[in-house]
Order: sequence, then C-alpha cells, then structure tokens
Amino acid sequence: MNTHHEIPSYLTPTEIGPWGDYIEQIERVTPYLGSLSRWVETMKRPKRVLIVDVPIERDNGTITHFEGYRVQHNTSRGPGKGGVRFHQNVTLSEVMALSAWMTIKNAAVNVPFGGAKGGIRVDPKTLSLGELQRMTRRYTSEIGIIIGPNKDIPAPDVNTNEQTMAWMMDTYSMNEGSTSTGVVTGKPISLGGSLGRREATGRGVFVVGAEAANTIGLAIPGARIAVQGFGNVGGVSAKLFAEAGAKVVAVQDHAGTVFHENGLDVSALQAYVTAHGSVAGFPGAEEQMSRDNFWDVQCDIMIPAALEQQITESNAHRIRAKIILEGANGPTTPKADDILHDRGILVVPDVIANAGGVTVSYFEWVQDFSSYFWSEDEINQRLTRLMRDAFNSVRHIAEDKKVSLRTAAFLVGCTRVLQARELRGLYP
Ligand code: GLU
Repeated sequence: MNTHHEIPSYLTPTEIGPWGDYIEQIERVTPYLGSLSRWVETMKRPKRVLIVDVPIERDNGTITHFEGYRVQHNTSRGPGKGGVRFHQNVTLSEVMALSAWMTIKNAAVNVPFGGAKGGIRVDPKTLSLGELQRMTRRYTSEIGIIIGPNKDIPAPDVNTNEQTMAWMMDTYSMNEGSTSTGVVTGKPISLGGSLGRREATGRGVFVVGAEAANTIGLAIPGARIAVQGFGNVGGVSAKLFAEAGAKVVAVQDHAGTVFHENGLDVSALQAYVTAHGSVAGFPGAEEQMSRDNFWDVQCDIMIPAALEQQITESNAHRIRAKIILEGANGPTTPKADDILHDRGILVVPDVIANAGGVTVSYFEWVQDFSSYFWSEDEINQRLTRLMRDAFNSVRHIAEDKKVSLRTAAFLVGCTRVLQARELRGLYP
C-alpha cells in the first residue's frame, strides 16, 4: 500500500524521478499561496494519465511494441497543451513532471491553456522513416480519444519536429473525417504552421537571457556562453547570442563537447552538426573536452538546453557562471537550486526562460482558428514583448517576496491555476 497520499499510487516512491523535483518545487511555493493553499493538492495530481501500447510492423516484417503516454496535468484554465517527446529514457514520471511544468509555464506567461505532455519510450534513431511514421500515426490514433483542438493540443519536443506534427495532424484529421489544423502546433507553414514557431523557444531563451543579464549589469557583447544541447533550443539561442556579440565558448551535445576560448563559430558548428549529427570532432574547436569538464567552463551564462536533472548537488558547486538560463525543462534539481542560490548564481527558471515555444504555439492555434496568418515580424514582436513582461513581473515578485525566480514563477502560475479552480468550483 502506498502511504504517501501526495504520490499517485501508480508511481512508487523509488521511481519518483523528475516528478519528485516538481513536487518539491510545489512544496516550496505552498507557504506563499495564502487561502489558495486549500487547493494545492490539485497541483500534485495529474488530472488524467493515459498509457498506450504502440505496436508497429517493422520494415523486416517483425512487430515491435512501444510504450506511449499522454498526461493532462491540468485543464482549469483551458485545453491541455504541451509537446510530445520520443526518447529511449521516457518514463511516466518524466511525462508527468513535464506536463505539470507546462501547467505552470502556460499560467506564468498567461496563455489560456492547461498543461499536458506526451512521449514514447523509443530511440527514434533506430527506426526507418517509414517505421517512424507508422509509430507516430498509431500513437496519435491511440491518444486520439483525449486530444483535440479544444481538448489537448500536442506540439514538438525532444526528437519530434514539423514532420511529426504533420503526421499527427493528418492522422487525427483522417479519424475525424475533416482537416483539423488546430489539433497540434509546430506544424509546417504550408499546413497551418506559424512563421517564427521553429525558432520561438530559442528566441525566447535569448530575450529572457538578455533581460536577466541586464538586471545584473552584464553586457551581452563579449559575454561568455556555455550551452548544453544543440538542438532546436540550444542551437537557436546560441546563434542569437552570437549574433548579439556574445562568445559561445562551449557547446555540449549527446556525443561530444567542444570549446573555444575566443568563441566557436556557431554557423560553422551548425553546418557541421547537420553533416555529422553531432558537435563531436568539430574542426573549428580549440579543444574537444570530456563530458564532465563542461561544468567547469568559465562563463557568464550557462544554458542547459537538453534534458532534465543535469545540474545536481554533485556538480552545482563547480559551475562558474553568473546566470543559469534554463532552455530545457527541469534541468536543475531542487538541491542544486539551493547550492546555486547560496553561491549567488541567478537561475532563470524553465517555466519562464523556455516559454517562447508554447507562446508562439498559442499564436499558431489562434491563427488556425481564425484562418488568418500574421507576418514573422508581428510574431517576433509579440513574442518579445510577452516574454519581457513575463520575466519582469516574475522578477518583481521575487524581489518583493525575497524568493527565487523559480518560486516567484511558480507563485504566479499556481495562483492563476488555483484561482481558476476555485472560481469553477468542484464538480458536482
Ligand atoms: N515542447 C515545448 C515545451 O516544452 C513546447 C510545447 C508547446 O508548444 O505546446 O514548452
């Protein structure tokens, strides 16, 4: 019997994983919630968890089964919203935590969505394009009973992209009998996607990072940047920081770590990764570093833009940065947060720093509903304004209440969610 009433019985305490980090973050904000704390248990339980079997026929005629998930953490403020991840380490705990962080994120930047997330435990590199398409379609069909343009709207995340969203949109539309562009965001432009969506997460990371740098008197020209993850988030934000005159001194991805004291040529690095699949061996690097030495790199801004639980109690004391700018979801554990705080390192939390992606997803969803599409300039201007405002209002609350930016962002997010919860009231 599970005696920890705050932990759903389908997660045992030994498997709590990233969900445990999220619960700790909720515990930390609870004392500030006032009378809304009566509803806080809501935040500690996903509204709905769906686990699906995803069988596909392989190219060689054999059958393989994958495990897929879609978790709707909260829908008090609107439909569920959040990405779909294909990764060999996907677990229920991870998808639950990611869905909950979407609830906080969407509320913190005030887009009218709840929080959701999906994933399949698979290494997509082991599948052919045809197998990948069949897996994506079968998964979409299986979660089709709970998604929809007014119910829950998936989007890209780790190892999923515009093509994945096109297959998901098509599968859902085939099952419905009519084309439904608003069921997913992050689609190709020709299928109702939004200009600027592909770069939106990285652009938002840059905008919020520049704003955070400004508050501590750090100039971006000449600033030293270290990035973990060189995909859609790390790659785009590295490029924007470099264009603004910063020096991207270190980049780490799944296969290697490259360093250059005077700054790597980010465009050349991007071209190298397109050709070789990883930063490993990039000839423009001064040094190919060991994975672990990444945490010792002398920098001003460190951008973890890969997976969760990267900055932990075992490396937080080594980090030589002024700002941690969370491009990934959940890269810093609560214990590491405390160490960084004591060391005077400013942590700009994921739920603000990487909210640019879902913000432009919201713009895409609105454009799909009105069948009227905005210019890229208009998207980028609205994104920049919204991200700056969200960061600054969270910063003011942090100063006012003398709490971390993370707790302040959780305070804004939880307050909006729980106010909606209270106003709607319990059914029946
Ligand atoms: N996967 C992205 C995130 O973690 C975007 C989600 C979305 O656009 O719905 O925020």
